[in-house]
Amino acid sequence: MSTINTGIFTAPNAGEYLEREPDMQVQQLAGRLWTASDGLRRSIFLEGDTGVIAFDTFGTPGAARAYGKAIAQTLPEKPIHTIIYSHDHLDHAGFSDDLAPDAEIIADEMCAKVISLRGAKGQLEPTRRLSGAHNEMEIDGVSFTLLNPGPTHGSGNLSAWFAEDRLLFSSDTILPNARYGLMPDYHIWNFVRFMRSFLDLDWDTFVPGRYELTDRARFELGCDFIEAVQEESQKAFAEFVPIWVLDAMQGYVGGKLKERFGCLEGFDEHIGLIAVRIVHHYLMGGWGLEDTPEPGVVLADEVA
Ligand SMILES: [Zn+2]
Repeated sequence: MSTINTGIFTAPNAGEYLEREPDMQVQQLAGRLWTASDGLRRSIFLEGDTGVIAFDTFGTPGAARAYGKAIAQTLPEKPIHTIIYSHDHLDHAGFSDDLAPDAEIIADEMCAKVISLRGAKGQLEPTRRLSGAHNEMEIDGVSFTLLNPGPTHGSGNLSAWFAEDRLLFSSDTILPNARYGLMPDYHIWNFVRFMRSFLDLDWDTFVPGRYELTDRARFELGCDFIEAVQEESQKAFAEFVPIWVLDAMQGYVGGKLKERFGCLEGFDEHIGLIAVRIVHHYLMGGWGLEDTPEPGVVLADEVA
């Protein structure tokens, strides 16, 4: 245990969780564009002229190694020379040290700041920090666009748009189902507004950070779903629903939305948790500077 990367775990028996290597499924999406999934989480990697650009690392040292092996099997002779962190969270980007310790690591400046201060074991600090909403990238012969319209989920969430392949990748934001769970660190004030801004771009295929690939219509339905939970959660106050009680919120919000969104897989099991999380946004006013109408203020000390 002492020699492996442990993220922020302190419990000595976390090793079993951290070391397990899951099976990885790899699928080619376009000429230079691939996706890998361990059945729960999902990411993408790109074939450069001389090496590989990998998005994220998966969430344990074992999963990072499995991701690395899957990439090596798919593109032998091409080492991972670049890692792009989609956001700061350890379950997606926590173990670059186990994937490619010498790679250049690209991240948004907010993501980089959190990672630097957190000092999780295995999550290497970014070597290149991006700023702004829109970055045109040209790495090792591959062109794509990294987008951060503002706080959506986690810190400095970068989505990737592949215009030529008509594909968008956005980790831990919109899902192809209703399996959002507790939704910690979703920035509800602007979440749907920023996610909908991606619909101004031309793409057909959506690659989420979890579960299966989906399309534009399903992405739009995902935006509608979160927005509808926001609306119904506010109404719960007017009807004096005990908003901190899981069963009560599940019954109230679930009942209102079942007809329209019950088709989303996982709706029945998750709607209560989602509603309890979102209702507290309205109760408290949000989680910090990211949850304000002008969230750019969080960058006040970052950008000259
Ligand atoms: Zn996340």
